[in-house]
Amino acid sequence: VKAFQVGGIDYITKPFHLEEVLVRIETQLQLRAAQQSLQRLNSDLERRVRERTRQLEREIASRRSIQDRLLHVALHDDLTELPNRTLLLQRLQQVLDASHRDPTFQFALLLIDCDRFKIVNNSLGHLVGDQLLIAIARRLPGCLPPNSTLARLGGDEFAVLLEQSGALESAVDAANRIQAEMHQPFQLERHEFLISVSIGIVLGTPAYRQPEHILRNADAAMYEAKGKGKACYAIFNETLHRQALNRFQLEVELQRAIDQGNFFVCYQPVIELKNGAIVGFEALVRWQHYDWGLVPPADFVPVAEEAGAIGDIDFWMLRQVCQQLTAWQQQGIIRAPFRLGLNCSARHFTRPEFIAEIDRLLAKYQLSGQWLKVEITERELMANAEMAIATLNQFRLRGIQVAIDDFGTGYSCLGYLQRFPIDTLKIDRSFVANLTESTSNEAIVRAIVALAEGLGLNSVAEGVETPWQRDRLVALGCRWAQGYLFAHPMLASAATALLQQQRTSDILLPSHSDELV
Ligand code: C2E
Ligand code: CA
Ligand code: CA
Repeated sequence: VKAFQVGGIDYITKPFHLEEVLVRIETQLQLRAAQQSLQRLNSDLERRVRERTRQLEREIASRRSIQDRLLHVALHDDLTELPNRTLLLQRLQQVLDASHRDPTFQFALLLIDCDRFKIVNNSLGHLVGDQLLIAIARRLPGCLPPNSTLARLGGDEFAVLLEQSGALESAVDAANRIQAEMHQPFQLERHEFLISVSIGIVLGTPAYRQPEHILRNADAAMYEAKGKGKACYAIFNETLHRQALNRFQLEVELQRAIDQGNFFVCYQPVIELKNGAIVGFEALVRWQHYDWGLVPPADFVPVAEEAGAIGDIDFWMLRQVCQQLTAWQQQGIIRAPFRLGLNCSARHFTRPEFIAEIDRLLAKYQLSGQWLKVEITERELMANAEMAIATLNQFRLRGIQVAIDDFGTGYSCLGYLQRFPIDTLKIDRSFVANLTESTSNEAIVRAIVALAEGLGLNSVAEGVETPWQRDRLVALGCRWAQGYLFAHPMLASAATALLQQQRTSDILLPSHSDELV
């Protein structure tokens, strides 16, 4: 026992037998060999663990740097490297939280929009426009106090967040300095640019609950500045506040109207100029408010578009129009080339849900697409030409026609017309209204009619109000027209009566209608 305690590992008894000694030595040698190989394995394992750990550390570090880079990309504008709208909203949220904790904490937001920047883009191209934006982004920080965040919100719009006491004074100060700095010409390649900006200023208060509201009010003030003649600043004030409130109320009421279905449809005839026959109707939405009465689409469609509610309205219109067409089809009072035009906002016309809803309704009512015409404005088509073409092809597959609404008021580039599968150009009301005043408008109408003819499209003149305008349009070769001279938009019942009358007597439309809606 003593021997084992001091480190002996085996023993033999005397007298010893050679065989036993040899076997015991053999065993000890094996044991020793096993121990050594275990040690080697252990140290090998340790080395591998160390190596793997180092490798993992390297991987994590690189993943972290990718993450950092992704985060940077997500929060910065790639043209100017400035913080973008998302990051600005985050910072605004932080200062808003700070002002909720400490009401004496002050901050202000400036929204800077370049005046007439589109001219630069349109005349010299986007590359030069981008260079100019970069130059502006470089010049702006020189006008700002420390502790301010400069961001680019997109396009030619920048924002500055100021955090300091006396925020309003320093905001006005900064606005003046920016105006002065921007008046110095920009030298880019061979061009010299003179730029001016309109600035909206909002003083932050703890009363704000959401950063988006601050931005919205800055936007309102900026538009006020533009309205005052550009190249100046405006501070968000009580009046603007009331306007913003009205607008907010309009949004709330509009949502309520959508939930409760307080809309109805009016139909305005499209007529063949040579004989007054009805060749279609345009469906127009009407909002009947319980308190305000009839609200015109011009007042709420833009608001609905911005608030993202236009989809609900247009889908509702689509359902109404399909129901109405089914009724007319069953009564046998419509026949080709009759078409019912439906106005469609860009927000959803390329969305797959729109075409899916059309398919669902056509199937539900066993309706043919040949009765439908979708009206879209040029601007909306150009916003995403590839998607638009794909969608228009989907319409065509279903026999649905497409009209370009308000033609002549949007893009002047005509090359795209050939690329879009469209059927009709609607000549904007403004050209028809001014036919009397200027011969240049007459030239425009003549050109549009010729353009349509050359491309194998129809043209519809909008807003015909006088017999003189009608006669001029006939002389200019326009085939179809729409306007108060023939009929105001009317209720479905009146439209049905007109169609019935037309079927029995092939009447011409009266020169004015009683149903004014
Ligand atoms: P739009 O598509 O250009 O519609 C034609 C507008 O001209 C209608 O105004 C119509 O009432 C009006 N109009 C027709 N004939 C005459 C005329 O002889 N003289 C004058 N001065 N005006 C005439 P409305 O119904 O107020 O609609 C205004 C705009 O609202 C429409 O312009 C369209 O852009 C939009 N809108 C109307 N309904 C819908 C809809 O269901 N969905 C969408 N997304 N937009 C709609
Ligand atoms: Ca229209
Ligand atoms: Ca129009």
